Amino acid sequence: MSQQRNATEVIVAGAGAVGLTAALVLARGGVRVTVLEAGDALATESRASTFHPPSLEMLDDLGVLDALMARGIVSTGFQYRDRQTGPIADLDLGILAEDTRFPFRVQCEQSKLTPILLEALQALPQVTVRFGQRVVQATTTDTSASVTTEVGDTFTADWVIGADGSNSQVRQSAGFTFEGMTYPERFLVASTTEDLESILPGIAAVNYVFDPSEWLVVLRTPEHWRVLFPTDQDTADEVEIDPTRIQVRLAGVADLGRDWEVLHTTLYRVHQRVADTFRKGRLVLMGDAAHINNPLGGMGMNSGVHDAVIEARALLALLDGNGHLDDLDAACEGRRQVALSYVKTITHDNWERLRQTDPDAQRAYHDELRALAADRERMRAHLLNTSMINSLRSGRPVAVLGGAGA
Ligand SMILES: Cc1cc2nc3c(=O)[nH]c(=O)nc-3n(C[C@H](O)[C@H](O)[C@H](O)COP(=O)(O)OP(=O)(O)OC[C@H]3O[C@@H](n4cnc5c(N)ncnc54)[C@H](O)[C@@H]3O)c2cc1C
Repeated sequence: MSQQRNATEVIVAGAGAVGLTAALVLARGGVRVTVLEAGDALATESRASTFHPPSLEMLDDLGVLDALMARGIVSTGFQYRDRQTGPIADLDLGILAEDTRFPFRVQCEQSKLTPILLEALQALPQVTVRFGQRVVQATTTDTSASVTTEVGDTFTADWVIGADGSNSQVRQSAGFTFEGMTYPERFLVASTTEDLESILPGIAAVNYVFDPSEWLVVLRTPEHWRVLFPTDQDTADEVEIDPTRIQVRLAGVADLGRDWEVLHTTLYRVHQRVADTFRKGRLVLMGDAAHINNPLGGMGMNSGVHDAVIEARALLALLDGNGHLDDLDAACEGRRQVALSYVKTITHDNWERLRQTDPDAQRAYHDELRALAADRERMRAHLLNTSMINSLRSGRPVAVLGGAGA
């Protein structure tokens, strides 16, 4: 620990859900925090939309859950569906009542959480949030860390947190590696104002839809529905986002006899990558800056929020003189192992199972899901994985469906 403390104790690069959560944990503990955000305002892009029970507990502890729930919808379960025949199995998160204070998911875009966190931070005098400050370089010594921003400003603090997303400049400029793979197919998300509850009766707020020719994920957010499709590996982006093609694909979800109302579409590449370490000197990584995964299971932002709380608490203890560097390292390495052994395993299994094209293998898996839904103990074991509760208990998913399981 430096004897001479900097005026800012912690710099957080990135005002996403993860950076703002970490900043709030630290600032509530009395730490002087400066948040540097590249954008001129908070990002409004609609990405993550599912909050799992452990994230709800953490946000509740930070006093921001009521505001989030007022903007989101509660989803008490989720559904596995066959595209042709409808529901296969409905899983009830209520079964986790003894495992969590919040045995449900909240469906709400991450862009609704960030303003809530920002408002909480701006109420604290020891917090400074600077927009239009894109970090381009991060350096560390034994006792402090500095960042330089695109506009030429340099900021120094006792610690720097890199929460600047998947293209993290903190990570790249400081030479952390980010090994992993990129999926061959891209994912296409179409948001629609169509009322899918009346179009597909019995549909849940979160649905994993199997089909030998084209799997789907169908999700509800407070104002819209989203349909996520995989794309062909070799088709040009322009072809995939062509509105006529999107209408054909949506007609395959439900033929309305007319075009679907589409609000917007996003096509994106999906990766599984994890940094070689989450701490180097006085630089700490978390969220997408530290690990990225495919979105099947809704674990990216959630695990990032868990990183933020766990790593920031360890840093807070260190700054308060109540913790040791070893504890921070244990927290960082624990989160890295969750990214490698839990999030990566489950999200990749989800992808493998959804894209299964062999009808016999699909039928066998559907039978397994039906059996699971009929057996309370197995369903609970499965939901402890998918709700991420096990990621905070053992750090590993428990095999339930002949694998970590969707
Ligand atoms: C289509 C889609 C759907 C998804 N659905 C889910 C889901 O349902 N559940 C889930 O848990 N996850 C989901 N994810 C993943 C989730 O969006 C990310 O894991 C999450 O956004 C990570 O948060 P973050 O704060 O680490 O990074 P970001 O949200 O990327 O925030 C980083 C912030 O840093 C800023 N920034 C970037 N570079 C710099 C810089 N150099 N200097 C300063 N600031 C910088 C950015 O402007 C941004 O404000 C989804 C992702 C996608 C693409």
